[in-house]
Amino acid sequence: MRLSVIGFAILVSIAGVSSAQAAQAVSISNDLEQKVIEWRRDLHQNPELSNREFRTAKVLAEHLTSLGLEVETGIAHTGVVGVLRGGKPGPTIALRADMDALPVTEQTDVPFKSEAKSEYRGNEVGVMHACGHDLHMSMLMGAAEQLSMMKDQVAGTVVFIFQPAEEGAPKGEEGGAELMLKEGLFTKHKPEVVFGIHVWSAGTVGHVSYREGPLMASSDRFEVTVKGRQTHGSRPWGGVDPIVVAGQIIGNTQTIVSRQVDITKAPAVVSFGIVEGGVRNNIIPDEVYLEGTIRNFDMDNRAQIFENLKTTAEMTAKASGAEAHVHIDEGYPVTINDVQLAKKMLPTMERVAGKDKVTISPLVTGAEDFSFFALEVPGLFVFLGIAPEGQDAATAPSNHSPLFYADEKALKVGTELYVNWVMDYPGR
Ligand SMILES: [Zn+2]
Ligand SMILES: [Zn+2]
Repeated sequence: MRLSVIGFAILVSIAGVSSAQAAQAVSISNDLEQKVIEWRRDLHQNPELSNREFRTAKVLAEHLTSLGLEVETGIAHTGVVGVLRGGKPGPTIALRADMDALPVTEQTDVPFKSEAKSEYRGNEVGVMHACGHDLHMSMLMGAAEQLSMMKDQVAGTVVFIFQPAEEGAPKGEEGGAELMLKEGLFTKHKPEVVFGIHVWSAGTVGHVSYREGPLMASSDRFEVTVKGRQTHGSRPWGGVDPIVVAGQIIGNTQTIVSRQVDITKAPAVVSFGIVEGGVRNNIIPDEVYLEGTIRNFDMDNRAQIFENLKTTAEMTAKASGAEAHVHIDEGYPVTINDVQLAKKMLPTMERVAGKDKVTISPLVTGAEDFSFFALEVPGLFVFLGIAPEGQDAATAPSNHSPLFYADEKALKVGTELYVNWVMDYPGR
């Protein structure tokens, strides 16, 4: 009996120590929260398209410089990196926010609504932060300010990554996380871990959702060119009909996910989005062009589907005497959260957001180029809800909608998440 009493006492004291550490989440002041809101509104009113974030980069660089950070600009075109050296020894931790807006004409009635216009693929378009990257940047600006104020208590180095072109670089240009890495970002500042946040229309304001392992899909674009032989529509035997072959290819590729891939590992999607061919009812054309997208949550499945798509298209065409040429334009890899890191940082997220507000996210078939960073070093990427309390988040206008709306109460939670990830890693 006595032994168990001692055991109990030890347990209590261990629990006491850990909960004492656990109770101390850093929170930001009302003043800083107000600043973050103002930065967000300014960025929202001045959105810029991918690889064109010139004013945005200037705002970010000026802020980081004013905090006394080491600042680098012009990375992957318009990227900005700030480096904070803490007062104590420790690892390097990277925090990432993306910078670009979308060719969307804003239809909300917020007082800081965007009236910006820009040129996109030869057309004049409205520009809007319809994916909430304005919130990401302002939260990270706030975290940089908070951590600078308390830098004596910061162990190690914090690298603030402001990344351009998450939505994809313009045609013919490189950009985003991949280009930042290609330019040596992680060679120069090799972080031990990287953290990122994405605001999410389908979550209630301040709620955090995440997932261990794969969270968001890879996204790859494919093209299939089917070459037949043109002939009169009344005499199909005089040529090779690429329209029928294209139809067969579309049908046969449905068996890739349903019959050829091990779906117990992870789900996958193969979708066609473009079918183009022919000019007139009675001409069988020479060629049909198909385009589509592939989504995966497993990197091996992804490689296999590339092979299956190629074989299925080529062999289907061959059976009819046609030819199929497949081109796969590799996009973003699977966004994978490091399981150990996610477990380690869960108490931090629960302290910042509230225990009842942290949930497990379902798999998301959208993609994120944070994935490139998280393939290099352990990463944690989470969703932060922005739908106003009392509103049905499930039916709120989604990210990329012209009616996309964010409850700014989320900004405090996101800023504090960044700050406390730094302060708590690894269990400081
Ligand atoms: Zn987006
Ligand atoms: Zn986004």
